[in-house]
Amino acid sequence: MSIPLLQVYKVARYLAGQKLRGVKRYPLVLMLEPLFQCNLACAGCGKIDYPKEILQQRVSVADALRAVDECGAPIVSIPGGEPLIHKEMPQIIAGIVARKKFVYLCTNAILLAKHIDEYQPSPYLTFSIHLDGNRQRHDESVCQEGVYDKAVDAIRLARKKGFRVTINCTLFNGENPQEVAEFFDEAMTLGIEGITVSPGYSYSHAPRQDVFLGRAASKQLFREIFRRRPARRSGTSWSLNHSGLFLDFLAGNQSYQCTPWSNPTYNVFGWQRPCYLLSDEGYAPSFKSLMEDTDWDKYGVGKNPRCDNCMAHCGFEGTAVDDAFSHPLKALKVALMGPRVTGPMAPELPFLYGDGAAATVFAMPVADLKRAARDADGRGSASGRH
Ligand code: SF4
Ligand code: SF4
Repeated sequence: MSIPLLQVYKVARYLAGQKLRGVKRYPLVLMLEPLFQCNLACAGCGKIDYPKEILQQRVSVADALRAVDECGAPIVSIPGGEPLIHKEMPQIIAGIVARKKFVYLCTNAILLAKHIDEYQPSPYLTFSIHLDGNRQRHDESVCQEGVYDKAVDAIRLARKKGFRVTINCTLFNGENPQEVAEFFDEAMTLGIEGITVSPGYSYSHAPRQDVFLGRAASKQLFREIFRRRPARRSGTSWSLNHSGLFLDFLAGNQSYQCTPWSNPTYNVFGWQRPCYLLSDEGYAPSFKSLMEDTDWDKYGVGKNPRCDNCMAHCGFEGTAVDDAFSHPLKALKVALMGPRVTGPMAPELPFLYGDGAAATVFAMPVADLKRAARDADGRGSASGRH
């Protein structure tokens, strides 16, 4: 785990406050999308296919900071689109840092060298740079040659100027665990603080549906990757920017349900129901309305077909953090030992929907799920559901 102690302390204090007040649903990370426009067109992106007039819209400084205040989450993640295109991004960042919120500015880094002097290093500000793998893998993932080299140059520049830097890495179908492990080794030598990693979510809007991972394939892939993790004492171990229990979930050892309210999303349309990934479910006029009027029971694994392949951190990191707070000994054990990479996996959650009016309830072990997918597509891949 590579989350800085100051952040761990402040988030723990925030969680304790929510628990003491008996709040059932609380936000942990605000996903603030200030624009959808980007200077890349990646195959797996579900954000850039809006019409031109939408892509040209921006969340203003005032609206962005109002959303931060309304939500109250201790962490703000700024994805996009490409946030560095937004001309008022430095003011938005300065306002969030002034509120002592931890802000992760997620960027493909192409414009970072040009704009870096508009930002001040702070323990509250992290540049989270998009890097999906080694040079060949990343350039293929973003559909443009030369982007990996630009991102690596930007990481070195930002570190030299004293900024906190992490990378965010999305893993897609067909990843080679050995290559991913070697990429993590290489990334750590760049002086980054940590790696955020997530299996790609199957956006119905994304131009290529064949790239996404199914749940069973994701869990097996993460086991294979974690199996290759260097020992901590080697001094080259990976710093994964997640709670230990979320990593354990990725490795198939926790039957977590999604808690979409833990990562509420605000963008040019308002508060997006229910999460960062699903964009066709409408918008709430206020954060209060999002939390109180959304039919949360409609979403999650086994409750909604569009959620069944999702293991994204925006849905499940909040669940893992809440579990760690409720079961600190379990969390400590995983933090000390790392995710388990052998033995049976935790059962899948029951599927509560079916073809007819009456819901069908069944639970399927991961191995059977993999077999079913393999049989379905005949290619040995669990992602054949798409
Ligand atoms: S860099 Fe990010 S926002 Fe831009 S196209 Fe790629 S995935 Fe989408
Ligand atoms: S499982 Fe949660 S985060 Fe994933 S798509 Fe469904 S509601 Fe969104």
